[in-house]
Amino acid sequence: MNTTCPNCNSSNISCSTTARKTGASIGALGGAIYGYRLGSFFGPIGMFTGTFAGLIGGAITGCQAGHAVGKGIDEHILSDYQCNNCEQRFSI
Ligand SMILES: [Zn+2]
Repeated sequence: MNTTCPNCNSSNISCSTTARKTGASIGALGGAIYGYRLGSFFGPIGMFTGTFAGLIGGAITGCQAGHAVGKGIDEHILSDYQCNNCEQRFSI
């Protein structure tokens, strides 16, 4: 990719990680809720274990899935870039 800053013409550009971070957070939260609901079928102990397992397992998988989805949004939909030289934000 040959992207340059519209402000200072620098090619030192980084893609925004806004959607990536948001997606990862939502994924982690979703995983924890899913674990809690799944565990609630098995009573209080299951609820506790489910929440715990959901927090760990769900957070990891949810975070990864959310990160992957967010990466696509960042790169293809938002096209949100920031110049590392002058901090200028822009989209392509
Ligand atoms: Zn710049």
